[in-house]
Amino acid sequence: MSYINENFLELQESYLFSTIAKKVANYTQEHPDKKVIKLGIGDVTRPIVPACIQAMHQAVEEMGTLEGFKGYGPEQGYDFLRKAIAQYDYHARGVDIAEDEIFVSDGAKCDTGNIVDIFAQGNVVAITDPVYPVYLDTNVMAGRSGAFNPETGTYEKIVYLPVMAENDFKPELPNQKVDMIYLCFPNNPTGTVLKKEELEKWVKYARENHAVILYDSAYEAFITEEGIPHSIYEVEGAKEVAIEFRSFSKTAGFTGLRCGYVVIPKGVKGYTKQGKEVSYHQLWNRRTCTKFNGASYIVQRAAEAIYSEEGQKQIKENIGYYMENARIIREGLEKAGIPYYGGVNAPYVWLKVPDGKTSWEFFDTLLQEYNVVGTPGSGFGPHGEGYFRLTAFGTKENTIEAMERIKSKGC
Ligand code: PLP
Repeated sequence: MSYINENFLELQESYLFSTIAKKVANYTQEHPDKKVIKLGIGDVTRPIVPACIQAMHQAVEEMGTLEGFKGYGPEQGYDFLRKAIAQYDYHARGVDIAEDEIFVSDGAKCDTGNIVDIFAQGNVVAITDPVYPVYLDTNVMAGRSGAFNPETGTYEKIVYLPVMAENDFKPELPNQKVDMIYLCFPNNPTGTVLKKEELEKWVKYARENHAVILYDSAYEAFITEEGIPHSIYEVEGAKEVAIEFRSFSKTAGFTGLRCGYVVIPKGVKGYTKQGKEVSYHQLWNRRTCTKFNGASYIVQRAAEAIYSEEGQKQIKENIGYYMENARIIREGLEKAGIPYYGGVNAPYVWLKVPDGKTSWEFFDTLLQEYNVVGTPGSGFGPHGEGYFRLTAFGTKENTIEAMERIKSKGC
């Protein structure tokens, strides 16, 4: 007889995006004449930039020649890409990361999910609430969550760090000892960022408690303000306590191409039960070699092209396009008198639902009266209740029209 991994039974069914899809489908079926504008999903809409397309064409041609053909590549990623990442994303910001501390992958969802493999089951995990759901669910699968409490909507053993308007969406240090801390800035879903001194307290906590910070900076390219760290390694001492995740998905429209990377400095150490120090880099390298055969050569060439002069210019235009949408959303909400957060250093705007409605009630109003779709905050965790996420990833025309509708009717 085979037995199942019962941890999976502790997972809560995520109805968020399927419920949204169902509600939108029902509405459009009943009202085929209405134009519904979707500002809900976190996927990009701008096409891949020409520099990346050209690099892929070239790589495809190479693959068709005897000299240029590539079979299995290095599991950790090709040197050309690791070098470009180290140089442009780190050295250029004064951060010393070695090329072999970078592991190229097929995206940050896999990396943030797979990383749980190298941590002991008994570790206590802290996550913000609301949160990108992958951090929570993968720890539930790994058996670190304890039982789910339907009354509170939380797991027994997970330490939740509430982020809400009252604390400016900045998590406070846990009041119990934790071993793994997930931080994501710029944040999905709240769109907020941490300043360097605010990140410093987390690095200090991790150093004092021998904890590890799992830092997701998938949205760093959207930071527009000076003085906001793009990488946790801009904070002194972080190289001993932090693992950083990055993605080309939103930076360069790679959601369909798939490429990202994780940085594990060799100084980040965990402990055996006997108290012996072991480098997480060593464990992740071993895991990668065993379970992964590398991201595709063609895609890695496309990622490399992001760092070329042309590539940088082109992706910055797309990011600028989305951030203009974010500005349009913010301006629209201001005129409608709806309090909002984020949207300055992130493609997400997190608004406070007016009139004491729940997130789902507001979803229904927005869909039925304004024909605009967003994401209810409660889908990201209990403290997301009463909030709502709009994304800047739509087209400019649709974003303008959606905000005109909201402004003209007044929410
Ligand atoms: N991390 C965060 C915070 C995200 O919001 C997302 C995607 O929405 C990801 C990671 C996943 O990125 P990728 O497309 O590289 O898997």
